[in-house]
Amino acid sequence: MMLDILITAGRYPDYEKNQFTEANIGIKDGKIAYIGSETPEAKKTIDAKGKVVSPGFIDIHMHEENFANEGKEYVISKLMLKQGVTTCVGGNCGVQYQTLKEFKDTINELGGAPVNYAMLTGYNWYRTALGLGHFDTATKEQWDIIRGKMQEDLKEGAMGISFGIEYDPGITFDEIIYGTEASDDPNLLVAAHYRSDCLGNIDSIEEMVNIQKHINKRFQISHLSSCSAMGQMKESLELINRAMDEDPRLNFDTYPYNAFSTTINSTVFDDGCLEAWGKDYKDLMLTDDPYKNVYCTEEIFKDARKNYPKMLVVAFVMNEEEIAEAVANPKGMVASDGIINHGNGHPRAAGTFPRVLGKYVREEKRLSLIDALKKMTIEPAKRLDLENRKGVIKMGADADITVFDPDTIIDGATFGDIATPPVGIDYVIVGGQIAAKDNEIITERAGRFISYFEK
Ligand SMILES: [Zn+2]
Repeated sequence: MMLDILITAGRYPDYEKNQFTEANIGIKDGKIAYIGSETPEAKKTIDAKGKVVSPGFIDIHMHEENFANEGKEYVISKLMLKQGVTTCVGGNCGVQYQTLKEFKDTINELGGAPVNYAMLTGYNWYRTALGLGHFDTATKEQWDIIRGKMQEDLKEGAMGISFGIEYDPGITFDEIIYGTEASDDPNLLVAAHYRSDCLGNIDSIEEMVNIQKHINKRFQISHLSSCSAMGQMKESLELINRAMDEDPRLNFDTYPYNAFSTTINSTVFDDGCLEAWGKDYKDLMLTDDPYKNVYCTEEIFKDARKNYPKMLVVAFVMNEEEIAEAVANPKGMVASDGIINHGNGHPRAAGTFPRVLGKYVREEKRLSLIDALKKMTIEPAKRLDLENRKGVIKMGADADITVFDPDTIIDGATFGDIATPPVGIDYVIVGGQIAAKDNEIITERAGRFISYFEK
């Protein structure tokens, strides 16, 4: 048998043995077809001596391309690919930018995507489409209409449902539970962005733990750091860890930055937010003209909020030590929350995974390399019921593979330049094709849409 690619002399994480194993790994027809010490013939050989041959990273929480408003091209997923991600989950925080069918059709029309894409259906998007304001209470009739829209996305292959509770404070607990009942399939994933950060944080975590108690699905607390890293992380993690011990269907994801990013018109920035965070206008950085990379004054903040409501803001309001605690917690996943508007946004879309492996694993030794890799490969794969073919190096699994140097890997993107690629990622292989090599994209079309019904 002639292999397509043979990756030699690297070490891969063997999660069954919980250790790294040195082996040659062969790929044929998009699958892992050889693992061993021999060197079967291959059309192409990659020397991975000293490198880690990891399952491609799975980003369970990001924000997909906005084909509807920004044109049919890939922006976020190209950055994802360069940081070693091979599968992404969009449609988070209740937000989506087009129906699932439109999203799928666009990927097909474009002949593939830089990474594999799975999607959730976003509750808030359909709520807003009904003309409901952020604080409005929806009627039972409107709950049904929203549910109907989400059911269409589920029929098209969405992996679950997401909520952005903070963005629409009018959403009640009962409304959330009702929304999750769009399907009675227990294998669907429900993800939610909390109701309130900082001072409201513990109540928000309790609400989400409570949601899990009321639904027969898996529940994911989204980007914990942006909710709890303002002084409440210890208490939040205790609460979540205890709840996860009781019910393993609950889990969370977190990203490794001390700043969050969202649009300036968000209710997050309503009066009193800075006092609650103990921060100042100067801790908020704007990201687009006429205030690109400008730190706010009260005057600039008010002008931007009024005249550029969709502009993304980067808010440096989280504490570094608490970010590290969330990343290093024995349970939980790493996810980027990557979002880009008009080329602007937050470096997490380009740097999340290398940053965890370089800063928190190698430099600060907060967690071991294998534990960090689990949080970005097999754990999210299990969440999506994909662990037989993704998130693992084993015979027959999809050949989604990231080859990186554990001694040099680090993020390159900064708040001033959000697209700088990382260091130390040699190869990213998607579906058996070399999609990126040394930060250069070789093909943007090796990824495809992953439907719930093929898992
Ligand atoms: Zn969110």
